[in-house]
Amino acid sequence: MQETPSRRGDALLTFERVERRYGDAGEVVAVGGVSLEVAAGSFVALVGASGSGKSTLLKTVNTLVEPSAGRVLFAGEDVAEAKPATLRRRIGYVFQGIGLFPHMRVGENIAIGPRLAGESLSEQRIAELLGLVELDADMAERMPDELSGGQRQRVGVARALAGDPELLLMDEPFGALDPITRDALGDTVRGLHDRLGLTTVMVTHDMAEALLLSDRVLVMDAGRIVADESPHALLAGEGGEIAQGLVAVPREQAEKLARMERG
Ligand code: ADP
Ligand code: MG
Repeated sequence: MQETPSRRGDALLTFERVERRYGDAGEVVAVGGVSLEVAAGSFVALVGASGSGKSTLLKTVNTLVEPSAGRVLFAGEDVAEAKPATLRRRIGYVFQGIGLFPHMRVGENIAIGPRLAGESLSEQRIAELLGLVELDADMAERMPDELSGGQRQRVGVARALAGDPELLLMDEPFGALDPITRDALGDTVRGLHDRLGLTTVMVTHDMAEALLLSDRVLVMDAGRIVADESPHALLAGEGGEIAQGLVAVPREQAEKLARMERG
């Protein structure tokens, strides 16, 4: 794996006709042939209905899922040939759902990735990571069940950043949170993306979140990318029927609120 940092704008990720099938005869097509490039420095949202293949596609990047056909390149190298330890360090991953180890303190949860790789994180580094996600350093001593849902997700993000990755993958990171907490966390993540110069791929089923946070929205349907647009273009009506069906939801909400405000 080349260790030179990727230049902004170059393709950090390349999907080449990636397919993933399940079932004895491969009859379930989770991902049905996806080709695309993700530029270094971009914030990409992957949106679509439940079961459209978003999580499966995301997991082909950090090799949690192996493609049935096609390949994924990270910084120019096939991830199937990269050392797992290298991928774990260069790619941060925020799981769907909460995903903290309940019997470990927050600090230990944050340090788990480096620890599995035989490295330890200093108390100072853990405090710094907590600071990035706007939590107090003394949180490190708490147990996950002593935190709110939003705080736990912040810890999940801190854990994903522990190896100082270039690429941040997030699978419905704010899914289980109330709207206000969600919004605040979205702002934090977008701020970190910009400040740390990350490349981010975020899976969400919430088009409003995708429009507000990302530079580029990919819409998945039945294992395929059916739209690839900027938020601006989607709001201007581009992207086709499925994409516009998803855009209609936040738009109608916003219009209803505007009507209520006018009385
Ligand atoms: P999404 O994240 O968009 O909700 P997924 O990627 O989880 O969708 O799933 C896409 C499709 O692949 C679904 O039909 C799902 O049931 C199927 N699938 C995902 N993982 C597996 C698996 N491990 N075994 C069998 N089928 C799976
Ligand atoms: Mg999913």
